[in-house]
Amino acid sequence: MRRRIVIIGGNIAGLTAAISAREVDKHAEITVLSREAYPPYRRSSLVSIISAEATTPKDLIMSPSQLRSLRIRLLQGVEALDIDCHNRIVKARGISMRRDLSFYYDSLVLASGSLSLVPPIEGVKKKGVFTFRTLEDALRISQEAKLAKKVVVVGAGLGGLEVAEALAKRGVKVTIAVRSRILRKLVEPNLSVHLRERIEQKGVKVITGVSPEKIGGEKKVEWIKLSKEKISTSNVIFSTGVKPNVELAKKIGLELGETGAIKVDYRMQTTISEIYAAGDCAEAPDALTGKWMYVPVGSVAAKEGAVAGKNAAGDEAEVRGIIRAQADTIFGKEIVSIGHSSESARKLNVKANAVNLSSMWRSLRFLQKHPAKIMVLITPNGRIIGAQVISHRFASLYAYTLFSAIQQKITLDELLDKWQPWLNILAKYA
Ligand SMILES: Cc1cc2nc3c(=O)[nH]c(=O)nc-3n(C[C@H](O)[C@H](O)[C@H](O)COP(=O)(O)OP(=O)(O)OC[C@H]3O[C@@H](n4cnc5c(N)ncnc54)[C@H](O)[C@@H]3O)c2cc1C
Repeated sequence: MRRRIVIIGGNIAGLTAAISAREVDKHAEITVLSREAYPPYRRSSLVSIISAEATTPKDLIMSPSQLRSLRIRLLQGVEALDIDCHNRIVKARGISMRRDLSFYYDSLVLASGSLSLVPPIEGVKKKGVFTFRTLEDALRISQEAKLAKKVVVVGAGLGGLEVAEALAKRGVKVTIAVRSRILRKLVEPNLSVHLRERIEQKGVKVITGVSPEKIGGEKKVEWIKLSKEKISTSNVIFSTGVKPNVELAKKIGLELGETGAIKVDYRMQTTISEIYAAGDCAEAPDALTGKWMYVPVGSVAAKEGAVAGKNAAGDEAEVRGIIRAQADTIFGKEIVSIGHSSESARKLNVKANAVNLSSMWRSLRFLQKHPAKIMVLITPNGRIIGAQVISHRFASLYAYTLFSAIQQKITLDELLDKWQPWLNILAKYA
């Protein structure tokens, strides 16, 4: 009999699991349930809906026809409501057809992703308050931007900055309000200052050291109170982080880790043996410390999804260590953040110092030609555990070398020996 693999969630983790399962088992019946009504899209391209006033995102992860060619059945608009673990049945609901559905499985992958975190303050349910996570969110924000004069974006992670830039380009007066600093989790404080200057040069106001306290207005949002300051606004967009979507996991008694995400082992197996979990709903093992962390980024979701899918199809695959890698272009600056920042190292009690490589390398011709800000995080014995680059061009050129340096556990001195001659050669051509 053919193996039945059911996957709950049809984004990066879920689809990578499906494709990887197909690679292992050519005959399995693979079904992906996605409660979203749209074909799977990249969340990182959602901002194009707002900036380009488009109605469909720029990048689909995979088109339905590509999935069909792999004999992967993607059921859009189908929400898994419960799992009968004893009889191995997923109970679901076809949202638009209003029908109850059942799916038998031999192995199951939970790839239910994450949900936006919104502070529980008065007024968050008012008309004109948004989060920025789904295609529907992006379409609503884009529609609203046609009339909006002023928007407050609460939070200054990559998503918050992306939406702020897109709205500013459409002529909306944007204020970014943040409790601490720009990209606190991703970059060192000096880079936050640099980015803040850049953002303000582009006409976006940044207020730091404030928390949202109350949102007010008659029929819809008219103002927001940020600590002591009350400012008028037509919309508020929360980009204040995410939490793992563990509703179903809790319902069926899966154990959660200390981070609040689903506890898994290196095979992405949960505490119920035939159920795997991957992506934003699950924990990930840190490559440096081996500790289980919560790292809700696309590259991690893909890596975990691949392992979960292979194992669900009967293979023996493992995720041994995760090195986070994120890249984006915001307000005309390329930003790369890899491995640990001092913020994440502090959380794990790892001692580390941030070294300003760009000021050490001021005389290097390549950097003179193409200025970049490069920070490297090193442990007391010199090992590189994280790196960040902000530049106008070529940030991704550094990314590969820095990622390899972290992966190969080399020291800063070793990196400098290898890298400087290479950059000198590159200066002649780039
Ligand atoms: C605006 C934005 C920009 C981003 N940019 C980047 C970037 O540049 N680089 C990067 O690495 N990461 C980025 N991320 C993060 C990245 O998108 C996520 O880490 C990634 O999408 C996680 O994939 P996932 O499959 O685990 O979860 P999700 O993408 O959250 O997908 C889970 C899916 O499961 C569905 N689902 C949940 N419960 C059920 C159920 N019961 N039944 C059926 N379906 C269900 C959900 O509707 C959802 O479609 C960004 C995120 C956002 C919001």
